[in-house]
Amino acid sequence: MLPDYATYDEAMGLDWYAVDPNLRFTLDRLLPENADRAIAEELVGEYGPLVGGPIARRAEVTDKNGPVLERWDHWGREADRVVHNDTWLENKADLVRHNYTSLHARAGNRPVPGVVTAAINYLVCQAETALICAMGMTNGATDIVQRYAPDAVRADIVGRLTSTDPDVAWEGGMFLTERQGGSDVGANTTKAVQDGDEWRLYGEKFFCSNIDADVFIVLARPDGAPEGARGLGTFIVPRQLPDGSTNGFHMRRLKPKLGTVGVPTGEVVLEGALAWLAGGSSQSATGDAARDGRGINRMMEMVNGSRFGVAVMGLGIHRRSFLEAAIYAAHREQWGQRIDRYPLVRETLVDLLVELEAGMAVTFECAAAVRGSADEEEARLLRRILIPLAKMRATRAAVGAASSALEVLGGNGYMNDWPMARQYRDAQCHPIWEGTENIICLDVRRAMKGEGAHEALLARIERSLDTAGPHEPLARPADAVASALKDAREAIAYLASADDDLQLLQARRLANLLADVSEGAVLLDEAAWALERHGDARKALVARRFARQHLETLPVRGIVDDDRTVLDFFDPLIRYGKVDTAAVA
Ligand SMILES: Cc1cc2nc3c(=O)[nH]c(=O)nc-3n(C[C@H](O)[C@H](O)[C@H](O)COP(=O)(O)OP(=O)(O)OC[C@H]3O[C@@H](n4cnc5c(N)ncnc54)[C@H](O)[C@@H]3O)c2cc1C
Repeated sequence: MLPDYATYDEAMGLDWYAVDPNLRFTLDRLLPENADRAIAEELVGEYGPLVGGPIARRAEVTDKNGPVLERWDHWGREADRVVHNDTWLENKADLVRHNYTSLHARAGNRPVPGVVTAAINYLVCQAETALICAMGMTNGATDIVQRYAPDAVRADIVGRLTSTDPDVAWEGGMFLTERQGGSDVGANTTKAVQDGDEWRLYGEKFFCSNIDADVFIVLARPDGAPEGARGLGTFIVPRQLPDGSTNGFHMRRLKPKLGTVGVPTGEVVLEGALAWLAGGSSQSATGDAARDGRGINRMMEMVNGSRFGVAVMGLGIHRRSFLEAAIYAAHREQWGQRIDRYPLVRETLVDLLVELEAGMAVTFECAAAVRGSADEEEARLLRRILIPLAKMRATRAAVGAASSALEVLGGNGYMNDWPMARQYRDAQCHPIWEGTENIICLDVRRAMKGEGAHEALLARIERSLDTAGPHEPLARPADAVASALKDAREAIAYLASADDDLQLLQARRLANLLADVSEGAVLLDEAAWALERHGDARKALVARRFARQHLETLPVRGIVDDDRTVLDFFDPLIRYGKVDTAAVA
């Protein structure tokens, strides 16, 4: 059944999977094996009503009742306790109970496709991205502990991090950033001193989200290691010692944040905190992994995973923004008719959705590339460059989407007793977190210069053009993608021999060009798939609209052509209805 926004009182209380046919479309396309698709239906289907219902409602309460640090107890002893509203704790407990940190076990210990975990995160992020900050880092920490913790503690910590019992479940966090800088982590001064097979950490960490988690992945410099990022090591640090005493870990304060209020972000002082070097017991005895520069790689594995997670946060906010705006516009009347009858409102809603579908196409492609590709190295390189591009694009687009959607709600949108104000505040966290947009653009450049990752991307885009070739409705957007691909090749060749400062100056422009052409290309794949499978030209319209907005140069700013897509196809576009191929010829 197609979503009918006029029949919903509000977004909260709906099954957010059921009202999102594009999510089902994405799962259908990227999970061709029946067993994978069945797992997706079971798990993602379970999250739809959970996040749209209780989790979304509690998130609104948490936003108005953020965490408070009890630094000292009434005897004047250091307590370092974060007091949360019950709504935050209940939301995390719900995720734990619904296998958010143990999907693998829920799926009968068979691997859960990345597309499925991405879909679950996408749904949760529509309710509260702060929740994924906390619980997503827990999954990242589990991965590091599983691979690199000493044998003696590994099973116990992993068992707790993946428990489905909220009373015993542990959470994770990651501390890189220090007061002198988050982009240049090579300037980190937190020191690690070897103590037998273990280490002791001394220093300050300045942005510590999920500060009252139980185990942290921390960057520090072993004594005697070289300056810069190469000399950093990755350490696993429990917050408390087995006897329940604090592990040389002091919370200085919680940050007064603009948004993502639920998750406590604070400043931490480490004074001799016991730590294990991520790298196995043989390396922990010598510290070689840190001293020869391999140490930071462990952390970067976690950071790449988190950057993908942050891209999904952007998508979640974008989708929630669209849903809120579509429902409001179907109810609100001005001059005697629903505001979604007005052409400018129609255009806003359609473009919110087109941008979202473009972002989803590329972000979910990152998740699918790991499993689906025939050539593992190509999949790795594709992921290497597409993740930063997806993070840059989805998080920036979400800020714009939240702003546009808020305005569809008029003055109500600006009020904290309507849902858009929080989404707008939360959205601004994600372009910064896990690397600002500039740093992400530089990371794209590093992936190109160091690993030639763009070759995998350009080849992938060529394949999309081949796929689109036979489909007449895709002729125009395919031409636009081909022309942008030519531009991208020219830009890459030009910058390869340009002065270094010019290369740096153009890094954002190049990343945006690559993001545009990637989104345009994957939309062609989706559109071709829908035409072949279902004879449905709706995605072709999305691909055309995206190409028009991002890839084509229109005369007189597009004012003098007679493109009526947002007027004539408004209903099937925003309600995901089938469009006849003949209608778009
Ligand atoms: C809500 C929130 C939660 C956070 N949680 C955590 C956490 O749990 N753990 C953690 O480790 N960190 C966390 N962070 C920190 C975050 O990762 C950093 O804020 C971010 O990486 C930027 O670092 P910075 O704030 O030191 O800014 P800076 O590095 O000082 O950057 C300032 C500006 O300079 C620009 N800039 C810097 N270098 C360059 C360059 N070479 N070229 C071009 N521009 C440049 C940046 O793009 C930015 O615009 C959190 C941040 C926020 C806002």
